[in-house]
Amino acid sequence: MSDLRFDGKVAVITGAGAGLGRAYALLFASRGAKVVVNDLGGDPHGRGSAQKAADIVVNEIKQAGGSATADYNSVTDGEKIIQTAVKNYGRVDILVNNAGILRDRSLPKISEDDWDAIQNVHLKGSFKTTQAAFPIMKKQGYGRIIMTSSGSGLYGNFGQANYSAAKMGVVGLANTIAIEGGAKNVYCNVIVPTAASRLTKDVLPPELFQELKPELIAPVVAYLCHDSCSENGTIIESAAGWAGKSQIFRSKGGLIRKHITESASIENVRNKWSDITDMTTASPRNSLPAALADLTETMECLRNGT
Ligand code: NAD
Repeated sequence: MSDLRFDGKVAVITGAGAGLGRAYALLFASRGAKVVVNDLGGDPHGRGSAQKAADIVVNEIKQAGGSATADYNSVTDGEKIIQTAVKNYGRVDILVNNAGILRDRSLPKISEDDWDAIQNVHLKGSFKTTQAAFPIMKKQGYGRIIMTSSGSGLYGNFGQANYSAAKMGVVGLANTIAIEGGAKNVYCNVIVPTAASRLTKDVLPPELFQELKPELIAPVVAYLCHDSCSENGTIIESAAGWAGKSQIFRSKGGLIRKHITESASIENVRNKWSDITDMTTASPRNSLPAALADLTETMECLRNGT
């Protein structure tokens, strides 16, 4: 089988001056893509800025014979990042929303500033950058968009309520973009990475930290962005050379009234609680129409009486 290449494609990687974004940028460039290396260059908490981070990665790519342009805008000005791609390369085919910061604090200690900073970079930044790229991708009939979520978003993590909320927010964003872009070959998927970076050096055990190289996740992101990959609206978790799909499942549930003419009561909820929460016969729900179809069936049962 032939190598998967990105010749002629333009990839915008946000937060590509370090960590995962840098690994993505180097891989895309080594496979022929022209890469916009975006990075604001601030500290891990989103304070300050510097051009150095993006410049270093651009130089690495150029020294290896690839093509890259630096962009120093914040993702909160996402339209400017996409303008950099269009101005330099005339198009944008791939967008990896990767830029990120942390302001970890337990819920009672999260200031409004900490909340806003996290929502702005992760959620609003992904929205702004994607919104700018989306019409271009739709018009050309090709686009691959990646949102970056986190285990903290999917599962929760002590001290990261602000970050968890934003990281689950990008899952919702991806779900709808996948629906709005799908027919025009503009696909949007979510990566949930675990990798060594400045954001994880204090939380991962040192032995594990050494093993979790960002370069092990980059091929997963690159494959999702290849035109031969038809995956759309999917969450992929990846770490240490492993990748797997995550999905929302729903239990079969239980009726908390016997007939459409009856009302529901707290006691019936209590009595049916084991059915409501029984996940042994749970199944995935892939779309809102699929979820609504179940509702129609439920209404039928209630009309007929259970
Ligand atoms: P990192 O700090 O090494 O890289 C993030 C980059 O984003 C930095 O270079 C930073 O300067 C840049 N950035 C920050 N704010 C920006 C802004 N407003 N505009 C443009 N650039 C900005 O961290 P990383 O671990 O490589 O994280 C990359 C992404 O992966 C983040 O979204 C992070 O939340 C997510 N993530 C990482 C892990 C992990 O295990 N490393 C786990 C889950 C999610």
